[in-house]
Order: sequence, then structure tokens, then C-alpha cells
Amino acid sequence: MYSSPAIQHPEIETLQAELHNAYPQTILRRAVDMFGDDLVVVTSFQPTGIVTLHMLQEIAPHLTILTVDTNLLFDETYQLMDRLEREWGLNLIRVRPSQSVAEQAQTHGNALWLDEPNKCCELRKVIPLKDALQGYQAWISGVRRDQSASRAETAVVSWDKRNEKVKFCPFATWTESMIWTYIHAYDLPYNALHTQGYTSIGCFPCTQAVQAGDDLRAGRWVNHAKTECGIHVQNPL
Ligand code: SF4
Repeated sequence: MYSSPAIQHPEIETLQAELHNAYPQTILRRAVDMFGDDLVVVTSFQPTGIVTLHMLQEIAPHLTILTVDTNLLFDETYQLMDRLEREWGLNLIRVRPSQSVAEQAQTHGNALWLDEPNKCCELRKVIPLKDALQGYQAWISGVRRDQSASRAETAVVSWDKRNEKVKFCPFATWTESMIWTYIHAYDLPYNALHTQGYTSIGCFPCTQAVQAGDDLRAGRWVNHAKTECGIHVQNPL
């Protein structure tokens, strides 16, 4: 049950029942029809995000897209987002932290990502996204159940308590293999790091390549127990 959301958004459970087994295109269309300009996509230009944006080219090509630019992303990630923004005409907003990397170093030390990665993610990702989501009622995410144990229960539609928004995960039931089949079928661009053993790609100080058979997110925060930046976690880390 959703306590307060059940009051604010009594339709969420109905939507879950309607969409839990639906094709991603059906889920995306329903979200667009339901929320219009109050809907936003959040992507870090990983493979599921690329497929999401490609499908939306037909469904809602002018939908606002948010990407959290921590100023600590790989050059390959910036190249990909620049290319897609230009070639697909994306309505892209780059969400940035209040402090530059240099300012953060002055306030919190040279490598907060090593000393307190949860705090670093809070400052550079979670808070900026929460602020950017104000003014929207719902958002679309690329989270999938097969990405990690902590994501295994991902719902197709849910109430995001942290941000107080409806959250759609149209690809919750898709697998890594299905995503790559789609990308290759449509010959879509993707991050060049995926050819170098990187499966999940975030900020460069906290991302490494993985070995075959590893968890898809095993290369993130490898020297910490941390597995999530916090954006997709309902309780503070
Ligand atoms: S992923 Fe690493 S560098 Fe990026 S915000 Fe989180 S802790 Fe900081």
C-alpha cells in the first residue's frame, strides 16, 4: 500500500496493475498521455537510456530530458550526450551541483568520493536532481530489475517518496541482452567505454571496468559497500 501517495495519487495502484507487464512503448505513451509537460526523462546516457530516448523520438520528441552532470563524468559520456543532443535534437537540461569540483575540494577535501562517497553523491547528484524535478509531477527512469540485487523489486510504476513524484521504469522487466539487441537492431550510438569492459558507467573516480560474469554494477564504488548513488533509494544512505 502507498500511504500518503494513495491519497495524492490513488491511480498509482491502478496504473501498476495496468502496466506491470506492458511493452515499454505502451508505458511511455501512457506516461506522456497522463502527465504531458509535467513528465520528464532522467538519463545518464547508459544503454537503457539510449533505448528510452530512441522510443521517445516517435512518442514525444520534445519531452524534457534531465541528465545529472556532476562535472566528473568520462569524456566518452560527454561525447555521447553531445552527439545525441545534436543529432536527435534532444530537449536536454544538464543538471549541475551548486559547487564546482574545485569548490567542493575547498569545502570538503580533494577527494570526497573516496572519503565520504555518500555525501559526495548527495551533493553532486541527489540534491541537484531533487531540485531539478520540482515543477514536474512524474519522471521516467532506466532502472531495471536485472541490474543488481537492490534493484530486483523495481516496479514499473511507483511513488517516489524522496522526490514526491510518480516514477515510471518502463524497462524494469527487460534484461541487458534485450537492451543490446534493440541497440544493435537500430544501430544506435552508445558509450565507447562499453567496448572496454565497462557495463555501468558513472563518474570516473568511482567507475571501473568489470570481469565477464560480474554483476552489471560491480564496477561502481568498488572499494566501498555502496552500490547506489541514492537517486533510486527511498531512504537516505
Ligand atoms: S559517483 Fe563518485 S564522484 Fe560521482 S557524485 Fe558519487 S561519489 Fe561523487
